This record gives sequence, structure tokens and C-alpha cells, in this order.
Amino acid sequence: MPAPRPPTVPVLEVYSTFQGEGLRVGERQVFVRLARCDLRCAFCDTPESYPTPDNARVQRQPFGAKDEALPNPVALDVLLAAVERLDDPPGLHAAVSITGGEPLLHPHAVHALAVGARRLGLRVHVETGGHRPGAVAHVLEVVDEFSPDLKLASATGAPTPWDAHRETYHLLEGRRKALCVKAVVGAATPEAEVEAAAAFAVEHLPSAPLVLQPATPYGDGPAAPSASTLFRLHRAAGRAHPDVRVIPQVHRFLGLR
Ligand code: SF4
Repeated sequence: MPAPRPPTVPVLEVYSTFQGEGLRVGERQVFVRLARCDLRCAFCDTPESYPTPDNARVQRQPFGAKDEALPNPVALDVLLAAVERLDDPPGLHAAVSITGGEPLLHPHAVHALAVGARRLGLRVHVETGGHRPGAVAHVLEVVDEFSPDLKLASATGAPTPWDAHRETYHLLEGRRKALCVKAVVGAATPEAEVEAAAAFAVEHLPSAPLVLQPATPYGDGPAAPSASTLFRLHRAAGRAHPDVRVIPQVHRFLGLR
């Protein structure tokens, strides 16, 4: 009988960087970007994650060395070894950020990665569209913090998945595991939509600040909101939510991926 194949997952890239979004901005993290997504947000800046590439790009060290190309799907123990190799000296990174695409399309892999990363002493941070509550339930106990989105229709170009968001937020609120709720806003995002979203967030996930993230112009996606639009949207959200922050994608300013 052939030996059982080790568990694998489709990967886009693994690299060391500074977290560029949300409340952990500026923190050194190892990013594990899993391939595939079931959404198509108009502002998406990682459309290369939709298909599974032939090879994952895996950084050997933060600077200088050429990336390693690992054929997809990648064995989870190989992935964890790559994370451990990058965290040199150990503790250089505060966390591993499991992102995508939509990482929760692969709940079993996220579970195994989280357990392994914790053994390395890394906090486990998961970025998700906030629309896959079943997968959140599967990994809830082994992930330290989640950054779920609130998908505004004006920015994504698709209806907001209110029911999936509600279920996701309730799970996270029950364990106080949401770092923040992130909503991308564009130049045409209406105040009323942001106020309703803020009311929804505070009703279902009151422990988490709401982050309004200005859209970074990308392809045919929404234009970036002006400063005056951001002030108006922040005021509108603040009518419903006690803790609203405006945080842009900082890694773009730094020229980081
Ligand atoms: S959920 Fe993320 S990866 Fe998927 S389409 Fe939206 S922005 Fe892109």
C-alpha cells in the first residue's frame, strides 16, 4: 500500500514584511498567502491569488536571496519549515499572518499552520473576508486573532454578505478574537452605507474597533476617497460606532508587497 500523502495546501507566497493594514500596522510578521478566493472584490489587489500558481514563491531570507519556487500544493511541514527559517533570529517576528486570497477556503490547512506557528512562538493572525463562518468555527481555538472584513457593496461591486458576516462576528465576539473589523471605502461610498455598516458591526461585534480602509487605486477598482470624503465617512460611522479608525494600506507607501 502506498504511504499516505502528507497534507498540502495551495500557496501563493511566503515572506517577511511589516503588517500594512489594520491595528497591527508596522508589526513584523511572516506572511503566508494561500491561493484561491471565492470573492471578486472590485478593489482586490491580489487577483493573482485566484488561481493556484504552478509554484509558490517562498522567501529564503528577508533580503538579497532569490525566492525559492516550491511546486503547488505545498506540504504543510515544508511551509512551517519555511516560516521557521524566515524567523531568524527566533522572535524577530511577532506573528504569522495567514492571508490570501481567502485563507479560510482551506480550514484544515489553516488549523495545522496555526498549531505549528504557535509551537514556534508566533502569534497567529488570520485575515478573512468574514464570509466563511463554518471555517472560522473550525479554527477558532487555535487562532489568536482574526481581522474580518465588512464587505461594502459600494466598494466590492457585489452585495454585502450580511448573514455570513453576522454569523462570523458572533463566533468571534464569543471568544473576543476579532482584532478589528475592516471595511474598504471608495470615493463613491455613501455615508448612509457606512453608518448602517457601523451599526451592524457594533451590534454583532462590539468588542472590535471598526477600521475604514481607503481604497488603494488598483485596476478598474474604486477610486480612493478624498480627505474630505474620509472625514465625512468617519463622522457617519461614528454616529453608530464608538471606535472608528481610518488606516490606509501602509505597505504601499513603503513599497512592500
Ligand atoms: S476577499 Fe480579498 S482576495 Fe478575495 S477578491 Fe476580495 S480583496 Fe481579493
